[in-house]
Amino acid sequence: MDKTKQLANGIEMPRLGLGVWRVEDNDATNSVKWAIENGYQLIDTAAVYKNEQGVGEGIRQSNTKREDLFITTKLWNADQGYDSAHQAFNDSLERLGLDYVDLYLIHWPVEGKFNDSWKAMEEIYESGRAKAIGVSNFHQHHIEELMKTAKIKPMVDQIELHPTLTQVELRDFLAKEGIAVEAWSPLGQGKILQNPTLVEIAEKHDKSAAQVIIRWHLQSDSIVIPKSVHEERIKENFDVFNFELNDDEMKRIDALNINERLGADPDNFDF
Ligand code: NAD
Repeated sequence: MDKTKQLANGIEMPRLGLGVWRVEDNDATNSVKWAIENGYQLIDTAAVYKNEQGVGEGIRQSNTKREDLFITTKLWNADQGYDSAHQAFNDSLERLGLDYVDLYLIHWPVEGKFNDSWKAMEEIYESGRAKAIGVSNFHQHHIEELMKTAKIKPMVDQIELHPTLTQVELRDFLAKEGIAVEAWSPLGQGKILQNPTLVEIAEKHDKSAAQVIIRWHLQSDSIVIPKSVHEERIKENFDVFNFELNDDEMKRIDALNINERLGADPDNFDF
């Protein structure tokens, strides 16, 4: 399996990365450094995680060339709008200590604002300070609304996606549109790791349930960003390129879907 996925604009995005939601600024430095030392290139942060500084520090401590890394951050809801999006992006770059990011995402589809935010994101993209731009938590109808005024189609939609929320229709739509799917809370925030089906498949492959879920995402063509702050688990979550789930196992994991959200529904959030 290729370790990267080509986005619509030709940029290669790593298929497996580290998420750092609910990671303290200080802890983010070590987590990012350990991840990069163990082969990760993709790091997923956001302004609202309040750890962009720690992430930037981890990147510097890893002593890895900038072009070998793929850094994502996101525009927070309170900063949506044309001018405020430009300002928020500059603030994120400054906190990260970087002169560009690889991917900048609209974090949530704030009604009445995301089209204006996108105009700023398109300008940021054209300036070269974001190598790709995309959205997060957008349903099909949000993307259709965005496209009424957009010049550039989002390259990525980062959505809640795990074996108990498989979002088949949305993924089909995104595939048809050439928009890469990125899975957030890919391990179901750790809550599904005891699931008997996952445990049984894991035992058969001599892998952990977390590794089986990550592999299921990769074989489903989703980009995946599991979070951990523990070095051993960070390593474990990347050790998934030396085994393969068969069709039957893939189908059994698909069948765990119960349309259960752990986070807010993008049609009904108040933050
Ligand atoms: P996740 O599904 O990645 O689960 C993380 C939890 O699983 C850990 O806290 C730990 O308890 C457990 N875990 C991780 N590796 C393990 C292992 N090898 N063995 C046993 N347990 C393990 O949860 P997440 O942090 O919610 O999602 C991942 C990333 O997705 C976030 O860090 C963030 O970057 C992104 N995210 C984005 C949004 C969005 O709105 N765009 C929302 C939520 C998360």
